[in-house]
Amino acid sequence: MSKHRTRTRGTVTVIGAGMAGLVAAYELERLGHRVEILEGSRRLGGRIRTHRFGAHEGAPFVELGAMRVPTHHHRTMHYVEHLGLLDQVRPFTTLLSEENALLATSTGHVRLRDAPRRLIADVRASLHRDAYREETVVFGAWLAAVVDAVAPPALRTGLRADLARNLLDLVEQVDLTPHLLGDGKDRIDVHGLFAAHPGIRAGCGTRLNSFLDDILTETSPGLIRLACGMDQLVQRLAGRVRGPIWLGQEVTGLDVAPDEVRLRVGRGPLAALRGADVVLCTVPFSLLRRMSLGGFDEDKLTVVREVDYCPATKVAVHVREPFWEREGIRGGASFSGGLIRQTYYPAPAEDAPSGAEGRGAALLASYTIGEDADLLGRLPDRQRHRVVLDELGRMHPQVLRRGMVRGVASMAWGEHEWTGGGCTIRWGQDAAACEEERRRAARPQGRLFFAGEHCSSEPAWIEGAVESALEAVRAIDRRFGAGAVGAGRVARSRLEAAA
Ligand SMILES: Cc1cc2nc3c(=O)[nH]c(=O)nc-3n(C[C@H](O)[C@H](O)[C@H](O)COP(=O)(O)OP(=O)(O)OC[C@H]3O[C@@H](n4cnc5c(N)ncnc54)[C@H](O)[C@@H]3O)c2cc1C
Repeated sequence: MSKHRTRTRGTVTVIGAGMAGLVAAYELERLGHRVEILEGSRRLGGRIRTHRFGAHEGAPFVELGAMRVPTHHHRTMHYVEHLGLLDQVRPFTTLLSEENALLATSTGHVRLRDAPRRLIADVRASLHRDAYREETVVFGAWLAAVVDAVAPPALRTGLRADLARNLLDLVEQVDLTPHLLGDGKDRIDVHGLFAAHPGIRAGCGTRLNSFLDDILTETSPGLIRLACGMDQLVQRLAGRVRGPIWLGQEVTGLDVAPDEVRLRVGRGPLAALRGADVVLCTVPFSLLRRMSLGGFDEDKLTVVREVDYCPATKVAVHVREPFWEREGIRGGASFSGGLIRQTYYPAPAEDAPSGAEGRGAALLASYTIGEDADLLGRLPDRQRHRVVLDELGRMHPQVLRRGMVRGVASMAWGEHEWTGGGCTIRWGQDAAACEEERRRAARPQGRLFFAGEHCSSEPAWIEGAVESALEAVRAIDRRFGAGAVGAGRVARSRLEAAA
């Protein structure tokens, strides 16, 4: 298979330079370990991917991967602060918070400020029995709006069934007055209501229930973004790793032996075999299961095969001018419906450096997950971009004006060579089953350790990548550390603080 057989003694070999790999490498070095990173692709960051329309400073950009951080994700926020990025933190205006943004309803797009009556009428029309209090229907209308905007098709249909079955009956028992919003009391603080009355979650089907925390987080007011781009998190971490970060080093085989891990790097006749003392693998299981794996126990092979992934597709458009601002849309997002589902607008120019006029603006025209993401993701790039522009044009006809579109970029993560699936999902599993899968995914095999969002209790978030990295660092250090002395001891207490 290979002509070369080398071994890196006393070094932890980290596979993957996404957030999990970089955090782990950085923290391992701070504990006194020698580290190298093997990254298969030609770029750092994995699913953190800031796309810049142009190489010049101030070029408009869009996040084609992770775009916001919930402020309660304290591990991620720790690195934002630690890496000197606090001055770049800005509120992230999410779906259903910009009054002039648009919302797909049964009668077409309406502005959020005009939406309540329409949403309430839509929910009433979908119910068999219509004897509920007005405020109970208001709840149904806004929960449906949130779920329609964020969730894939099966969960959207499931919610309609839950509302009709017993969710509204449960809500009917609750005093909703403290949670009603607006002069007409025709809106509701869905987040506050679920927090105050967790029992009503029993009315949601199992799949929706296990996705509900994510849905509520994605639409909560407690989100931030980085004005300089999320990729700065990655760049600054990589800048602090002293060991080598080798790009273009695809690991294609892992063989666990009693005293080393044998890696196959590359494909075909050029593949090289190398032994490594300790390895931390952060490759998503959607790709790990395609590798040749030796020395794994049965349970590990099973969980590597079983972890479920949800595809996500994002399509960004570079336009001549931020035409949405003329409609009063100042950031936030529209629930566009149709094939494109969600459209995110950049914050107004407060962040743009002087001279940014003329560089245009970047819009995240479409963000889809699940089957919606597959539909767009499986199209060839040109066709995908055409479909998205046509649909966007129905909501914002300005985009169809000659010369308005300067460029389009997209990422179909479900199809992506270095992700192969999107993000881990544990929908339909209860808390105990989720924890069991996390534990099995993270469990080492001899000297081979695992991290990545799929090994965490916060899958599909940066927080999960960081959590799993810190867990793996602690486990590696416990087994192979040089002892808690000197700089190592200081770093160990910092590591506890980060965790
Ligand atoms: C569309 C989308 C939107 C998201 N939005 C958010 C958000 O708003 N907020 C948030 O917190 N999180 C979000 N996430 C989730 C977040 O991006 C991920 O959870 C996190 O970045 C995963 O980090 P990781 O290190 O586990 O994996 P990755 O970032 O995937 O890193 C794995 C690395 O391994 C490399 N690799 C793969 N195979 C090999 C191989 N064979 N050999 C060597 N290297 C290999 C890959 O190239 C990659 O660099 C989003 C994800 C997606 C896809």
